[in-house]
Amino acid sequence: MARPTGFPQAMDTERDAGAAHGIAVVGGGPAGLMAAETLAGAGWPVTVYERMPSPGRKLLIAGRGGLNLTHSEPLPGFLARYHPASALLQAAIEAFPPSALRAWCEGLGQPTFVGSSGRVFPERFKASPLLRAWLARLAAGGVAIRTRHRLVGFGPDGALAFATPDGPRTVRPKAVLLALGGASWPRLGSDGAWVPLLSEAGLAVAPLKPANVGFSVSWSAHVAERFPGAPLKRIAAALDGIGARGEAVVTAGGIEGGVIYALSRPIREAIAREGAARLVLDLRPDLEVDALAARLARTRRGESLSQRLRKGAGLDPAAIAVLREAHVHAHASVNANVLPTEAGALAGAIKAAPLRLLAPAPIARAISTAGGLAFAALDERFMVRARPGLFAAGEMLDWEAPTGGYLLQATFASGRAAAQGMLDWLHAPAA
Ligand SMILES: Cc1cc2nc3c(=O)[nH]c(=O)nc-3n(C[C@H](O)[C@H](O)[C@H](O)COP(=O)(O)OP(=O)(O)OC[C@H]3O[C@@H](n4cnc5c(N)ncnc54)[C@H](O)[C@@H]3O)c2cc1C
Repeated sequence: MARPTGFPQAMDTERDAGAAHGIAVVGGGPAGLMAAETLAGAGWPVTVYERMPSPGRKLLIAGRGGLNLTHSEPLPGFLARYHPASALLQAAIEAFPPSALRAWCEGLGQPTFVGSSGRVFPERFKASPLLRAWLARLAAGGVAIRTRHRLVGFGPDGALAFATPDGPRTVRPKAVLLALGGASWPRLGSDGAWVPLLSEAGLAVAPLKPANVGFSVSWSAHVAERFPGAPLKRIAAALDGIGARGEAVVTAGGIEGGVIYALSRPIREAIAREGAARLVLDLRPDLEVDALAARLARTRRGESLSQRLRKGAGLDPAAIAVLREAHVHAHASVNANVLPTEAGALAGAIKAAPLRLLAPAPIARAISTAGGLAFAALDERFMVRARPGLFAAGEMLDWEAPTGGYLLQATFASGRAAAQGMLDWLHAPAA
């Protein structure tokens, strides 16, 4: 008989006594913990297996940015953010929408508020109090968490093989829910090492790719050395008719930040298709081109172009440098002084500065991960069709979304939906 995927040659077949008749959740991030809470709430013994010394590390890092939990926009627009996976996540998000997530936080003593951008944050702007209260509630609800347990294999009979500091260990739970995350920021635990395990077991996994990520640009030494870290505030960017507004940040090797992240899927796809992506920046999206031209036309004698750009268009030195660079690239010129001086043409250049993006930053530096376990491998209960009793949820599934709270919302909602799907399966009469 073939040895199950990933099982060590000489394996200690010790069983986790509790897990033998209970449920194993593998991965102690927000998806796994939400699933564990739902399952324990229905009376099942649940053990969470987590490879790191403590659970929820990526959630804690997300908290450093204030913990953008979800977004307040109406549900149809909200769901559209998951394109092309919107329909696949719709039922899960409708069953646990942003309002339910906010109520859940409140239940943990962490009320939330809607920021001016429509994003939702806990009032305390941190993840640690939320995670602390949640872990205490999970423990009180009987959820066991086994840390330093790294899943290294799973058999067709549902057995799980773990590497632990005390050596290999196997458990044979009644049902398994995988919530192993993506591959960004691997030092927090999710390293994508599960991909070969699932692929070798014959499950369809779309290659993991960086999402919400910066891209490289071949800046001149002037920009690369003088402007790393400089923000480009209140700009717009567009690619193939898809646009976004927000802030970008110049880096030594490229550009990153919210407006770039929002477009990271189309940018990544354009690069894969054509070798590079042509992103068009509007450095003054709040002004129509005519109004901007009128401002630029009001020049004093002897004013330099930089002074006109600074005073007339309100551009700071970093924006001016990026504008020049874009123009140099657009005209395939090495001369940085190729900007037009006529006000209308100059306004046009400011409102359509093309940047050539060459490659996404490595996945380890991305905020999130695209690709993952294919929805086609799952039924509507988030159960792996080929493996009854095996469920999956969270970022390890093949969806992506921009920042803005959409990542955590789908993570929590899919964790809950997969747990609910497992409960339905466990309670269904045997066929
Ligand atoms: C810097 C940063 C900031 C972010 N900010 C936000 C934000 O403000 N809003 C937002 O919506 N999203 C944000 N995100 C994204 C969000 O944190 C993730 O989408 C979310 O944590 C995914 O949850 P998950 O449970 O699916 O996976 P994870 O949180 O990655 O959890 C998966 C868990 O599985 C464990 N694991 C992996 N492999 C194994 C294995 N083989 N055996 C056992 N355990 C394993 C990992 O150690 C990990 O604990 C941010 C991400 C980063 C990196």
